[in-house]
Amino acid sequence: MKTKSYAVTTPTTPFEPLTIERREVRPQDVSIEILYCGICHSDIHTARNEWPGTVFPVVPGHEIVGRVTEVGSEVMNVKVGDTVGVGCFVDSCRTCVNCKNHEESYCLNGATSTYDSGDKISGGRTYGGYSKQIIVDKDFVLKITHKENIEAVAPLLCAGITTYSPLKHWNIGKGHKVGIVGLGGLGHMALKLAVSFGAEVTVLARSNGKEADAKRLGAHHFEVITDPQNVQRLYANYDFIIDTVSAPHDYNLYLGLLKTNGNMICVGIPPEPAKIDMMTLIEKGRSLSGSLVGGIKETQEMLDYCAEHNIVSDIEMTTIDKIDEAYERILKGDVRYRFVIDMKSL
Ligand code: NAP
Ligand code: ZN
Ligand code: ZN
Repeated sequence: MKTKSYAVTTPTTPFEPLTIERREVRPQDVSIEILYCGICHSDIHTARNEWPGTVFPVVPGHEIVGRVTEVGSEVMNVKVGDTVGVGCFVDSCRTCVNCKNHEESYCLNGATSTYDSGDKISGGRTYGGYSKQIIVDKDFVLKITHKENIEAVAPLLCAGITTYSPLKHWNIGKGHKVGIVGLGGLGHMALKLAVSFGAEVTVLARSNGKEADAKRLGAHHFEVITDPQNVQRLYANYDFIIDTVSAPHDYNLYLGLLKTNGNMICVGIPPEPAKIDMMTLIEKGRSLSGSLVGGIKETQEMLDYCAEHNIVSDIEMTTIDKIDEAYERILKGDVRYRFVIDMKSL
C-alpha cells in the first residue's frame, strides 16, 4: 500500500515528501489513519544520525494518535473508527523472558522500533508517524480513552510512558523528594506525573526562564543549578533525580544532590558517553540507573491513568512542512513543551 510521508534522505538535508510502501493488512493487523504525531528529540537524534546507524531515508515519529480504518479477521481489541495510539515499538518476539514479563521494550531478541528498524514481518524497514497511514500488529496498538484534546495525548505514547515507567518501577510518590533535570517534552511529563503521584517535585534548571511555567505545571520548587551556592545548599537533598537531558552535560553535578542511597534515573540519551565520578556515586551509596520507554501493558495503564486524571501534554501544533523549523526550535529549547504535527497538513 502506498502512503504519503515526510522523510530525510541524509543527516544534513531538510525533510521532503516521500511515498513509502506499507505492508498489506494481515489477519492480526490494524490499519490506522494517522491524525497527529508528536516530535520527540529521539526523532532529531535519528534524523541527524547522532546515534550512528540510521538507515536513510528515515521517516521518524513514534507518538502517534489515529483512527482505525481497517482490521484483520483476528483483531478483537479494536474496531474500525476507534481512536488508537502507537508508541515506540510495533513488534517484539513475545517469547523471551522480558516479553513474557510485559517488558517488550527490553525484548532480548530486539523489539522492532516504529521507525528506522528492520521489519521482521515484511522484511523491509519500518517507517514512523510522519505519514498518513500505518499498519500495526494488534498487540502493539493502544486504546485512547481521552474524550477530547486527543492531539495532546500523542506525546504520552513516548514522553508519557518513558517517564511513567521509571516512576512506577521505583515506586516514586508520597514522601519522596524528586528533582527533574531538563524541562522539555519528557521533563514536563515527568513533572506532571511525579506531582500526580504525590511526590515533592523540584525542577533543577539551567536558568530561571521557565520558573513560572514549571510552577504552573505543578512543580513545588524551582532551583537554578548553575549557581554554586544553590548546588551547595541542595547537597544530598533528593531521593530521586530524573535526567531527561538530550545533550552532553555534567551528571556529577546532579549525582551530588542525591540523598544517601538516592537514585538518579537517566532517560535522556546524549549522543556521547558521559564521565561519571565514582567518588560522588560511592560516598553516599548512590545509584545511577536508566530506563527505556515501557511495555505495552504499562503504556495502556499509563494512558488510562492519564485519561482518568486529566493529564495530557502541553503542546504546540505544527504542520508537516514545518518539521525542520520545529527541530531547530526544539534544539533552542523554544517549545512549550511538545510539537505535534497535524497530519491533515500532509
Ligand atoms: P527535549 O524536548 O528537547 O528536552 C530536552 C531538554 O534537555 C531541554 O528542554 C533542555 O531543558 C535540556 N537540555 C538540553 N541541552 C542541555 C544541556 N546542555 N544541559 C542541560 N540541559 C539541557 O527532548 P525530549 O524529547 O524530552 O527528549 C530528551 C532526551 O530523552 C533525548 O535524548 C531523547 O532521545 C531521549 N529519550 C529517551 C527515551 C527513553 O526511552 N529513555 C524516550 C524518549 C526520548 P531546559 O530548557 O529546561 O534546560
Ligand atoms: Zn520518543
Ligand atoms: Zn522478546
